[in-house]
Amino acid sequence: MRILVVEDSQVVSRVMRHLLTQELACEVDVAPDMASAKKLLLDNEYFVAVTDLNLPDAQEGEIVKFVLAQQIPCIVLTGSWNPQERSRLLQLGIVDYVLKENRFSYEYTAKLVKRLQRNQSVKVLVADDSVVSRKFIRSLLEQHLFQVIEADDGVAALDTLKDNPDIKLLITDYNMPRLDGFGLIINVREQFSREDLAIIGLSSDSDESLSARFIKNGANDFLQKPFVHEEFHCRVLNTLDALDMMAKLWGQANLDYLTNVFNRRYFFSLYEDKLPVIARNQGVLSLGLMDIDFFKKVNDSYGHDVGDEVLIEFAARLTQSFSQHFTVARFGGEEFVIGFKGLSVEKAFALLDRFRMQMESKPVVTSKGDLTITVSTGVVDFTAGESVDDMLQRADLALYEAKGGGRNLVCIG
Ligand code: GH3
Ligand code: MG
Ligand code: MG
Repeated sequence: MRILVVEDSQVVSRVMRHLLTQELACEVDVAPDMASAKKLLLDNEYFVAVTDLNLPDAQEGEIVKFVLAQQIPCIVLTGSWNPQERSRLLQLGIVDYVLKENRFSYEYTAKLVKRLQRNQSVKVLVADDSVVSRKFIRSLLEQHLFQVIEADDGVAALDTLKDNPDIKLLITDYNMPRLDGFGLIINVREQFSREDLAIIGLSSDSDESLSARFIKNGANDFLQKPFVHEEFHCRVLNTLDALDMMAKLWGQANLDYLTNVFNRRYFFSLYEDKLPVIARNQGVLSLGLMDIDFFKKVNDSYGHDVGDEVLIEFAARLTQSFSQHFTVARFGGEEFVIGFKGLSVEKAFALLDRFRMQMESKPVVTSKGDLTITVSTGVVDFTAGESVDDMLQRADLALYEAKGGGRNLVCIG
């Protein structure tokens, strides 16, 4: 990813280069004037340009128009506070107008570039019956590189969400035919939590109780129409930052820090909830408890870091083989567990035995060379009335048998 900084002050361009490369994996080109900026813009593909307004050879902000004409997002970073100029440039479609006040302005700019990068993969659904309003919101969102989908009422929005469950943000109007904003939100919240999907309510209604009602019904935030451009962006960015923060906390609580598969805590809470439901529906579930063979030897011979490399690769192979349909978790040390919901013990055995053979036949590439790693597994199926602990104890006995039988085996318990 390449970023262009158009800036005649060397101090500022150095700071920006430093902050941008710290924040993102990117290359930064610096142009000290309009002429060199033009040349760079014509010769390279830029993700975004951060530009000063007052350049030695173009003092009226001409650079902004040139950048926008190349379809490149433009962040203005300027020392002069000029409200008319600012709103004129925002109208033109710049991403933001940042004042060079202190070091926070530069940090803010670098973070903004990082958010633009993130936004490219964020889907936003805009539900509004007014075409004009929808198109306006779309244009604001596209300036910040979001993927935008439109729906012309609540029912259409629900259909769109069904087809695109990866939508991260819903921006919805209040007054809409068929299903209004409240009806839509209540319906959406039955399927998506606040951590999975953020909602911002909009309305031009003068009723002051609307904002509170939107939020009580499950919206994360509310905006009164007409809104200023910048307020819109601030609310959207704050809402998405909160979503990212929640996802990060969720990961810290539920994922294993080394291998990034689920942790023991997550596995237990998931199946403690699932077992009664499976029992009630006379459903099928098998669990496989896996333990890498002679793992201590890997640590002793090659060091703990190589041991970690093996764990990471082992978990990656488990993920590759099983995660699409089943639940993979690290139980601790070199022990992993897989929940095979819907599979009989024979079917789970077949998959686990295939995995065992793949491990044996494909060495793990480490920084100290290729190592052949084998695994022993105990697999059991669910009997009504059992707890997760009961199942795991039986799986552990079967695993013990696999170890006793010479390792590199799968045993049914
Ligand atoms: P067996 O075939 O009987 O399972 O033998 P083993 O050597 O695999 O089993 P043992 O339980 O004796 O040793 C497991 C080792 O795993 C001991 C421990 O230091 C190491 N270990 C546990 N967690 C980690 C980790 O996160 N990283 C590394 N590198 N080693 C770990
Ligand atoms: Mg072991
Ligand atoms: Mg062990």
